[in-house]
Amino acid sequence: MAKPTYEIYALKYAGPFIRPAPMMYWFHDMDKKIQINYYIFAICGEGETIIVDCGCAPELAKERDLTGYVNPGEVLKRIDIVAEEVKHLVVTHIHFDHISGVELFPKATIFVQEKEFNFWMHNPIAKRAPFLHVTDPVGNRYLAELEGSKRLQLVEGDQEIFPGIELLLCPGHTIGLQTVAVNTERGVAVIGSDAAHIFASYRTDIPSAIITDMVAWMSSYDKIREKASSIGQIFPGHDIALTDHYPKVADDVSRLA
Ligand SMILES: [Zn+2]
Repeated sequence: MAKPTYEIYALKYAGPFIRPAPMMYWFHDMDKKIQINYYIFAICGEGETIIVDCGCAPELAKERDLTGYVNPGEVLKRIDIVAEEVKHLVVTHIHFDHISGVELFPKATIFVQEKEFNFWMHNPIAKRAPFLHVTDPVGNRYLAELEGSKRLQLVEGDQEIFPGIELLLCPGHTIGLQTVAVNTERGVAVIGSDAAHIFASYRTDIPSAIITDMVAWMSSYDKIREKASSIGQIFPGHDIALTDHYPKVADDVSRLA
């Protein structure tokens, strides 16, 4: 029987943002700027739709004054996906730009690494300034209230959630970040989320400046590169090329694989 294959879409919901380059590319290009976008991803095929990350809720987007913000639910509608009806949601990590919109998906079963969940929900260190800065207390509270319910699937390490779709524990940027390996027509692609913010990192090993564990991060690069069919099949979390260099299927939506 043929292996199940899926399509992958990148949906930009905010940006572009202009940032100092070393924020996205650690201790390099010190005097340069870089443009980034905020994204969620959709995996479609075999009769299933799996959304990767939630984006930012409208309230927090307003509070943080996000340039070019569109409610992620609105962007999903452009490819006929109704957020309220989504059944499967992968949360790669619990930073505000990836978790805040969790309430937009009220019916979804949420897959998150147990290590990631336990850190943000139960470790008092997560309340300290550097961590607090990148999180959303409202989204976190919503997630915390799901503990013990069927809607929350705490994943321990690598796990295949559908034939041809595997979650990979890839710590470094956060304690329990997970990426998603997806079988596509052109082999295995990896939705890397913030295991790298930009494409260049997968070639050079240079991460972003938001680091929890640098040693783990290097091992995660090895793991992702080994898993993907080619380096061109690894997709970072914030690179504007995700929008600009792939076939456009709707406004701010591109097909990656
Ligand atoms: Zn991010």
